[in-house]
Amino acid sequence: MKLLSESKIKKNKFDVLLPLIFILATNFIAIVSLEFCIMIFLVFPVAITSFYIYCAKKSSRTNVFFIFSLLSAIYFICLFEFFVPLLELLPQENFVFVSLITLTVIFFFKTYQHSSLNRLGASSSTTSESLKNNTNDSVSVSLIEAEEKQCDSDEDLDSEDKNSCSICRKFIPARTFHCNSCKSCIIGRDHHNYFLNCCIGRFNHKYFLFGCISSFSALLLFANLSLTSICHPFPVFKIFGVMFLLPDDCTDVFRETEIALCFVGAIYAIELAIALFIVIIHQFVLISKGMTSHEFWIHKERVNSRKYGIWRNWKNFCYI
Ligand SMILES: [Zn+2]
Ligand SMILES: [Zn+2]
Repeated sequence: MKLLSESKIKKNKFDVLLPLIFILATNFIAIVSLEFCIMIFLVFPVAITSFYIYCAKKSSRTNVFFIFSLLSAIYFICLFEFFVPLLELLPQENFVFVSLITLTVIFFFKTYQHSSLNRLGASSSTTSESLKNNTNDSVSVSLIEAEEKQCDSDEDLDSEDKNSCSICRKFIPARTFHCNSCKSCIIGRDHHNYFLNCCIGRFNHKYFLFGCISSFSALLLFANLSLTSICHPFPVFKIFGVMFLLPDDCTDVFRETEIALCFVGAIYAIELAIALFIVIIHQFVLISKGMTSHEFWIHKERVNSRKYGIWRNWKNFCYI
């Protein structure tokens, strides 16, 4: 028992220390010079992607990616609040950035919170009953209605898709797939997200997409405001009285540590924003086709069985 708790403490320490050292080391090596910066940010996506694929293949229950997301968010907020303001940011710019970060936290928290509803046992009986008892919870009620509506449409469309899970040894409804990391059957499973430490399925898929969009916007805003503060900006266009600027010459940013930190932070934000952009585009295409990532990667033959039109697919996705 003692050995078990000791190994758990060791694992938790590893889950926190690894992303902390990784973020600090990459960012502080990158501020040395432009060459170091390019090298670090070429290796960075390869290292993260390789480790992610390794963990996904092993169906690992690691917290490393979750801690990585959390520490990255804290790192960006610290940079923005303590270094970039020295470069004379407007209060409105600060307000928009803080609002986007807040939206990101709310959407990703809701993604995690609603992930338990995706578990087959939870959403079919226990959770539905407990949710129905709580009549004041509008979110819960709308989820039940959405579930019933979705089940009706799924039965119409996929009655022949009903299957069984060989691991749980029970019958499962259409579009339900087993997740080895969650050790459960997940309704409308899209994928297991290690950055949020939960499965993305029918009941949290839209919050996940909204979270990706708001975090993508926050990262782009952070990168743009940081770079235009330190890299001799030039105006591009004016909208609602606000001038949109782009950076011009960034050659002298490595002369001062604070400015180099802002520059490296901006490049780090751009890399994460590119990754999120790919995820968002992939999600938009699949949702328009009425598919989940799981169906796309594992059951490609289902593509032709789900042509109900883009509008209806988006309505189903948003429970409208
Ligand atoms: Zn299962
Ligand atoms: Zn999962």
